[in-house]
Amino acid sequence: MKGTVVTLSYCLRENDEHGTLLQETDTNNPFVFLFGFGHLLPDFEGNIQGLSVGDKFSFTITAERAFGLYDPEGLIDLPLEIFMDQGQLMEHLLEPGQTLHLRDEEGEIHRCTVKKRGLSSVQVDFNHPLAGKNLHFSGEILDVRYASPEELDHGHVHGPGGVAY
Ligand SMILES: [Zn+2]
Repeated sequence: MKGTVVTLSYCLRENDEHGTLLQETDTNNPFVFLFGFGHLLPDFEGNIQGLSVGDKFSFTITAERAFGLYDPEGLIDLPLEIFMDQGQLMEHLLEPGQTLHLRDEEGEIHRCTVKKRGLSSVQVDFNHPLAGKNLHFSGEILDVRYASPEELDHGHVHGPGGVAY
């Protein structure tokens, strides 16, 4: 199935089919991706490999094989000063749940999520939001088509569910 464009609906729950709902596609916005280009978890592709339109799937990927175990050292307190801009605190960046992209001394960008706001610091979490979770996916294959030479060249899907060019 490498080099095909797959459209599917899925429901992502923690641990098993009875777990907390984490993500869900809606009928108007199914998930579209180019198979075999490393955009998805290898185990996700491995589990749907060979399925056809109309086939349903249901499987669990352990945290270790998904986004890794939760690392407590990923929780960091940052001084509020670094969120000052021209003497003003950028309050909108400090809401719990807000995703931030912070640059380190080497110029590398790291994604983190705001956990809680203190008086002089803000606690952020550099763990992936799905770290430490066993992921249970269930869903259905809605469409499979061959990717165009241009899509294969670019490594992404064009058109509905993908990018413009
Ligand atoms: Zn393109």
